[in-house]
Amino acid sequence: MIIDSHCHLDDERYNDDIDAVIERAKEQGVEKFIIPGADPKTLARAVELAEKYDEVYFSVGVHPYDAKNYDRNYLEKYVSHVKCVAIGECGLDYFRLPESEEAIEIEKKLQKEVFIDQILWAKELKLPLIVHIRESSVDCLELLEKHAGEDGGVLHCYNADESLLKLSSKNFYYGIGGVLTFKNAKKLINVYPKIPNDKLIIETDAPYLTPHPYRGKRNEPSYTKHIASKMVELSAIEQDRLESMTTNNTKRLFTKIR
Ligand SMILES: [Zn+2]
Repeated sequence: MIIDSHCHLDDERYNDDIDAVIERAKEQGVEKFIIPGADPKTLARAVELAEKYDEVYFSVGVHPYDAKNYDRNYLEKYVSHVKCVAIGECGLDYFRLPESEEAIEIEKKLQKEVFIDQILWAKELKLPLIVHIRESSVDCLELLEKHAGEDGGVLHCYNADESLLKLSSKNFYYGIGGVLTFKNAKKLINVYPKIPNDKLIIETDAPYLTPHPYRGKRNEPSYTKHIASKMVELSAIEQDRLESMTTNNTKRLFTKIR
């Protein structure tokens, strides 16, 4: 049994075949799904899916790309929902920054403010965080060490930066996705064995980051099997044990999952 801890099933690319996507995943042993709230525009869709399917959960937050649309008042009405399991995905993303020095400063400042507000909100509600980190390890580490509460969270889009392993002692987990199956993922493959076993969780980030051998196609939760197989290869433990271990880890972090 596997939990896909990060799949954007509220994305419009699933509008036409969501039932089949969930069915295919269940046939591959995926028992639960978490839709990370990234874009307030699709949050209503995430809630609709969580109310329709027992297996689907969601979180509430704003992705760094959308930082300018952050509005805690708007998100507040969703956060107390019984199936809202976390705050996020929030974080910092310095991959796509504007051109001028001045605009970069403004963008980074905005992303940090919005990220800190979500970290503090999670602490207040005693919920874990789903954190997006891209080209921003130093700043993310600093903000999480300074502000995060005891409920920790998961580092998604984990760009294999060893310095982030420090956060495992602050109850942070590491979301492993399709990148692990890529031929050019040397950095992640080197760091992977250093992640404590009890801090590994599985995520597809569907519809993005499709694992090998489906790269180029739309990603979906049924492909978690390919991520798990690669983890088995690198961990030297059996598939069944890896699946139950990561599922238990995911449930330990997201305590609202039933
Ligand atoms: Zn995501």
